This record gives sequence, structure tokens and C-alpha cells, in this order.
Amino acid sequence: MFVSRSSERAIERAGPSGEDTSRFPGSYYAASLGAAIAAPALGGDAITDFCVIGGGFTGLGAALALARRGRSVRLVEMGPIGWGASGRNGGQVHVGWQQDQPWFEQRLGTDRARALWQAALDARAHLDSLIALADDACDYRAGLIHADHKADHVAATHAHVAMMRETYGYDSLTPLSRDALRAMVGSPDYHGGSFDARGGHLHPLKLAQAMARAAQDAGAVLHAHTPCTGLEPARDGWRVKTPHGTITTGQVLDATGAYARALVPQSDAHVLPINNYIATTAPLDPALATSLIRNDAAVSDSRFVVYYFRMTPDHRLLFGGGESYGYRMPRDIAAFVRPHLARIFPQLADVPISHAWGGSLAISPNRLPFAIEPRPGLHAVNGFSGVGVVLAPWLGDAVGRAMAGEANNAYDLVRRLPSPRFPGGPWLRWPTQALAMRFMALRDRF
Ligand SMILES: Cc1cc2nc3c(=O)[nH]c(=O)nc-3n(C[C@H](O)[C@H](O)[C@H](O)COP(=O)(O)OP(=O)(O)OC[C@H]3O[C@@H](n4cnc5c(N)ncnc54)[C@H](O)[C@@H]3O)c2cc1C
Repeated sequence: MFVSRSSERAIERAGPSGEDTSRFPGSYYAASLGAAIAAPALGGDAITDFCVIGGGFTGLGAALALARRGRSVRLVEMGPIGWGASGRNGGQVHVGWQQDQPWFEQRLGTDRARALWQAALDARAHLDSLIALADDACDYRAGLIHADHKADHVAATHAHVAMMRETYGYDSLTPLSRDALRAMVGSPDYHGGSFDARGGHLHPLKLAQAMARAAQDAGAVLHAHTPCTGLEPARDGWRVKTPHGTITTGQVLDATGAYARALVPQSDAHVLPINNYIATTAPLDPALATSLIRNDAAVSDSRFVVYYFRMTPDHRLLFGGGESYGYRMPRDIAAFVRPHLARIFPQLADVPISHAWGGSLAISPNRLPFAIEPRPGLHAVNGFSGVGVVLAPWLGDAVGRAMAGEANNAYDLVRRLPSPRFPGGPWLRWPTQALAMRFMALRDRF
């Protein structure tokens, strides 16, 4: 058994984070989705070649890749499809990894650094192909502003832009002076930054649902409201236990993100779940909305605990800010986010908040994702560290192709990335890392 009896009971009741898995959280995304796809819960035993645990971008990417290759694949998700981080994130489309190119060059050499940059561009192009699956293009809007909250960060940002243009030929990036940035973002908090024309923002729950629909159309069988309560080796593969049936499968993928709890301990050791919070305002007067962000771009800042924000199509400000460590979320999330929002936009200090929600993201020690196969036929992909909108569907696709026996560069590149574990094991990694993160977050204030 890979999961203890007590965690088994907890997962059956409410999901490992203690949240209600019977429906989406009360997010703006759930409210603006329309009808969710039908994906009936598993109601008996089944046999399949491949089984994916987790219906977020990673799991859906893998299921879609396998189904498109004519493989028999089932996916189990403990909530509705897209219930986890994939259906509740900021929707910000970042090009690249959580480490910059000089970081890769110094540790892995120039050739691998270049290959990783090309992979980041491939991942971004892959996202375009997924956005195109939805009639409304998942509300995609182009443009991402990086905003520096300290004046002495700006020179480094501009040097980075110059290096990416000259060394990597990436001319979608442009530097922003203090005046140029303030002409785009109506906040006194920022001193300059950069603009990435290949970045952008989208409705992430629409993206997850579009991927799920495409996977079903290609022949994948998706089971929402079906928690995996245990995973056991079987004679020719694995048994995936759920409350109302067992799936016997040749290969299994753990794509449970930050919601993973003791299913595959070898994977858990590489990630730390962190809670992050988002609020949307009531629809704003269009002129006020335009004064906050003038070119409809997404904005993400230089704080350790990043503030990120953008407009929705109906002129709400969708603002992400504030983190907590541990399983519990604040009782009043709107009150938790409001001071962060007011710090950036004092003019919105008393604005009505229509929706507020939290989600868990999985960070890894070096902030890079990993793909491991701890036992034959048992795969795990995780650790996107806050930039999974572009990378998770792409890496899910890569691992799906690899499970189908198709060699691919994307999978090999990620398999070869350094993938340290958090010190302290499953329990001690929490207090030590949380302390370190709180210290870093404190530095944002000075
Ligand atoms: C608040 C927030 C804001 C973010 N903002 C951004 C952003 O703006 N841009 C960006 O690039 N990234 C962002 N991220 C990160 C991004 O959302 C993730 O990296 C990405 O969604 C990870 O996808 P995933 O499929 O690996 O995990 P998830 O989407 O979390 O999927 C895992 C799924 O597994 C399911 N599951 C867990 N355990 C079980 C089980 N035992 N049985 C069955 N199912 C199970 C869960 O219900 C969940 O749906 C944000 C994350 C959060 C939480």
C-alpha cells in the first residue's frame, strides 16, 4: 500500500487538503465557466493500459497524448475536472522557467541551457494549440508585464531583456522605464520592468475543460469525483483503488500536484504545497478598469510572494496576493487578499469583492518541475512552482508520449534536470521550509 489507512479515509471524505471536493471552489472561474463536462465517477472495476491520477493540466495533457495515440487510458480526479490548481490559478501565461537562462548556463552548460529555452518556446507554442481547442480561445489576451517593486531591481531587469534579445534572439521582450510602466499600470508601487508580447493571460478552468473534452473525444475515459485512495503493485502493473471500484492498469501516472498526499512518497519528498489566494472585484466602470491596466496585459511583480493581476472580460480586477503554509486556508479569503490589493491600488481600498478563493501549488527546492519513474510503470510529474499554465500541459503531453513508448526530447530534458528533495522528510520539511519562506516574504516589505 502506498497510502495509509488514515489518509485513505481523509481522501474519501474531503480530499487531502480538507476542502469540499464535491464542487468547484467559489471562484470567478467556476462562476463564469458555463456547463462543466460530464465525466461520470467510476462505478465498478475496470482494466486499462494506462491510468492517470489527477485531472489538472498535467494529467489531462498525458491523457490527451495517450488517447490521441489510440491507447486505452482512464483518468481519475477526486473533484470535478480542473478542481485543483489548474482550475483556480491566476491564468498568467509566462514564457520560460522559474530559473533564468544564466542559472541554467552556470549549472548545466550552454548547450543544455539553449535546449531548455527552446523547450520553453515549444511549451508556449503547445499552449497555443490547446487554446485553439475552445471556441472562445479560453478568453486568451496577449501581453505580460513584469513590474519591479524596487527601483534598484530595474537595471537588472533591463540587462536581462538585453541578454535575452542578444544571446537568445528573443525579441518579444522589451524594457519598460518607470514612466512607460506607469503609463500601462495605474499603481504608484512600481519603478520599471519589462513587457513580454508572448506572455498573456487566460481562463484556466476553461482551458482544463477544453483539454478534458478533447481527451474524451479522442477516446480517454475520465472519471470525476473519483479519488484514488490507494495504489498497489499488481502482477503486470498497478491497481488504482477508488471508493467504488479498482482500476487495474499497466502504467500509472501520479499527476496530483500540490494535492498529493502519500500516494507516491518518492514524489512527495520533492515538493512542498503552498496556498496562494486570489480575489476578483465586482465589475468596474470600464474607464476605471482601463486606468488600472491600459493594454489589457497581465501583470506580475518582483516580490518573493508575487502579486499578479489582470482584467477579466467583464472588467473585474482579478488580483492574486498572499500565501500561507500548511493545509488550512484563512476563513475569510476576501479580507486576507484586500490589504494586498489596496497596497497596489489604493484607489480600490473599498471596492466590493465578488469572489475570493485559494489554491495549493507545489513548489520544488530548485523551483523546477520533475518527472520521475520510482518503480517500473509508476510515473510522477510535479513541482511546477507557480508557473504551470504553460509548462504543465506540455510536460503532461511529454510524459504521456513517453508512457506510450515514444521517445521525446521534452521528457528527456526534464528527466535530466537536477531534482533535489526537501530536507527533513515528509513532516519536517514543513516547519523548516515554511520558516524560510516567511523570512523571504518579510523581505518584500523593506
Ligand atoms: C492560486 C494559484 C495561482 C497560480 N497562478 C499561476 C499563474 O498565474 N500562472 C501559472 O503559470 N501558474 C500558476 N499557478 C500554478 C499552476 O496552477 C500549477 O502549476 C498547475 O496548475 C499544476 O497543474 P497540475 O495538473 O500538476 O496540478 P493540479 O491542477 O493541482 O491537478 C492535480 C489534481 O489532482 C487531483 N488529485 C489529488 N489527489 C488525488 C487523488 N488521490 N485522487 C484523485 N485525484 C487527486 C486534484 O484534485 C487536482 O485536481 C498557480 C497556482 C495557484 C494555486
